[in-house]
Amino acid sequence: MKIQVQNLLKSYFLESKEVRVLTGLDLTVESGSMLSITGPSGVGKSTLLHILGTLDSPTSGHVLLDGQDIFTKTASQIAEFRNHQIGFVFQFHHLLPEFTALENVQMPLMMRGDKQAGREAQKWLDRVGLSERFNHKPGELSGGEQQRVALARALVTKPNLLLADEPTGNLDETTGLAIVNLIRELNRELGMTVLMVTHNPRLVGENRFSLSG
Ligand code: ADP
Ligand code: MG
Repeated sequence: MKIQVQNLLKSYFLESKEVRVLTGLDLTVESGSMLSITGPSGVGKSTLLHILGTLDSPTSGHVLLDGQDIFTKTASQIAEFRNHQIGFVFQFHHLLPEFTALENVQMPLMMRGDKQAGREAQKWLDRVGLSERFNHKPGELSGGEQQRVALARALVTKPNLLLADEPTGNLDETTGLAIVNLIRELNRELGMTVLMVTHNPRLVGENRFSLSG
């Protein structure tokens, strides 16, 4: 997915006080590329990712996703676009604790009534190296394994855009590096666009966008 951000402004209003977070941001990300987003805490990295993922809306400016000015669409059109095109991985995995790895990964497809949900979920768990952990619940997995399950769940719908917000922030260095290497590999293999927020200079690749306050 190609991303074009034009003069993006985002303010939050708290008790009628304006908190200006993004002030006229421009950014173009070519389809199929992988971009690391860096910058100090509180600068607006998560805010930017949420807006690009259509989970939050801009105060003003334009976000074009594959040329479509996404926030001019209706809420249900935006939700439909998100569900079919965008995958998310967060710092904390947000897996459902009472369901197994397999059930967590097949959930997004089951909600669409996809009869291949189980098979696709197995395929993705295999791909992230968890063939032996299908029936483990999140509490029965290591941090790195939980994040692999979250990655499989984000990819099971074959998104054209993967948004990862500090996906390794909760992991040790070696495990974090393994997750990022896996994301890079999948980016090359699948051609999906990847935007990844990271604090760790060792995880930043060749393409980097630095947010500053
Ligand atoms: P980062 O991910 O770079 O650490 P965030 O995007 O989470 O930063 O937050 C950017 C700024 O916006 C912070 O100063 C934060 O306090 C503020 N902020 C984030 N969400 C809200 C909100 N819902 N209401 C008010 N302020 C917010
Ligand atoms: Mg953040």
